[in-house]
Amino acid sequence: MIPGSFSYHRPTSVADAVKLLSTLGDDARPLAGGHSLVPMMKLRLATPEHLVDLHGIGDLKGITRSGNKVVIGAMTTQHELLASDEIAKSLPILRETALLIADPQVRYMGTIGCNVANVDHGNDMTADMLVLGASYHLQGPNGARDVPATEFYQGAYFTALEPGELLTSISIPVPEPGHAYAYEKLKRKVGDYATAAAAVVMTMSGGKVATCSIGLTNLSETPLLAEDAAKAVIGTSLDPAALKQAAAAAEAIMSPAADARGPVEYRKHVGGIMVTRALQRAAGRAR
Ligand SMILES: Cc1cc2nc3c(=O)[nH]c(=O)nc-3n(C[C@H](O)[C@H](O)[C@H](O)COP(=O)(O)OP(=O)(O)OC[C@H]3O[C@@H](n4cnc5c(N)ncnc54)[C@H](O)[C@@H]3O)c2cc1C
Repeated sequence: MIPGSFSYHRPTSVADAVKLLSTLGDDARPLAGGHSLVPMMKLRLATPEHLVDLHGIGDLKGITRSGNKVVIGAMTTQHELLASDEIAKSLPILRETALLIADPQVRYMGTIGCNVANVDHGNDMTADMLVLGASYHLQGPNGARDVPATEFYQGAYFTALEPGELLTSISIPVPEPGHAYAYEKLKRKVGDYATAAAAVVMTMSGGKVATCSIGLTNLSETPLLAEDAAKAVIGTSLDPAALKQAAAAAEAIMSPAADARGPVEYRKHVGGIMVTRALQRAAGRAR
């Protein structure tokens, strides 16, 4: 339970952090809230020789509204998301999701940047980012670039992040006022990752679904956008046949691992139920 020795660095700018990470190479890891990395180090499953602590970089903090976008700094904690009036007003699905992440202790330290940049497909915020059409700002030794969340997750433990690159902020277009949303998560107990979870953002007009986007958490090697499931409900009043079709279309793209949370068929089945419940609850909010 005691980590190996390492050198500690505390840069005060993104440029300095990127320089350290690219110079020190594979031996260095960024340190955000530390809730994933430090336990791994204590178990000696991660043995970085250098930790580059991001807490000294003020530019990585904060939630700002810029036109029709909300920009969230990577070092913003889940707790700060929950305390933000802007998030509650403009992006309420993030608030609903953050409340389902672990427990207050984890939420005080865990950062949104790590939640979306780290490769764990159980991280709940990733499905939200897909349905909201978020874009990630990355800064690395070759400069800065923006990558849509839909192109960021490329495979098991594999993202668009290049060596030495940091995710510095997330830019999210604000959905239209009055949009409907829901995040449904089945977990074995408080503090657990999802057995299956679904995010829905949609609009309704005249009792029918006008637009819809559905995301899935922990049901594949990457978070998934369930496009055919969304198409199945657009133009419908979410009648039982449409809901059944949406759940089946979502289940068709799921490929969860069989693990302590259950066998594959069970996890796909409850994944379909999460989609149905999220659609129904979102519709209830729209009406
Ligand atoms: C007991 C427990 C239960 C949890 N349950 C859930 C849950 O139900 N749902 C959920 O979504 N999450 C859950 N989490 C994860 C948590 O929400 C955080 O995502 C996680 O702890 C990592 O965030 P951190 O800021 O502590 O990252 P750290 O542990 O500091 O960082 C881990 C690694 O992420 C990478 N990283 C961090 N920041 C950046 C960045 N800006 N750019 C590039 N790479 C970066 C680095 O490689 C870093 O080494 C749980 C965590 C714990 C400890």
